[in-house]
Amino acid sequence: MRSSFLPKRSLLFALATTALLSVYSCKSQPEPAAEAEAPAPAMEAVDTTGPEYTSRYICPMYCKGSGSDQPGTCPVCGMDYVLNEDFHENHTDTTSVH
Ligand SMILES: [Zn+2]
Repeated sequence: MRSSFLPKRSLLFALATTALLSVYSCKSQPEPAAEAEAPAPAMEAVDTTGPEYTSRYICPMYCKGSGSDQPGTCPVCGMDYVLNEDFHENHTDTTSVH
């Protein structure tokens, strides 16, 4: 029985080596580009044509979806709207300014 002990160990070693090799071959496959597909949006040009920029009252953070024609709070960040200095009314106001 003593003679079968060593071959058994070497067989186990061979199995372990095969297992390691198979694992290594699996890991050597080209990894799929899972999260590399979303390109970062270009930040060079800020779109200032949205209501968060053109409304009379706007969020100081210009949150997307904010902006109103009356004072309020931003539904996105909760900050108080500020009067938009760049707001231009299309119609002529009839109230006389002294
Ligand atoms: Zn906001």
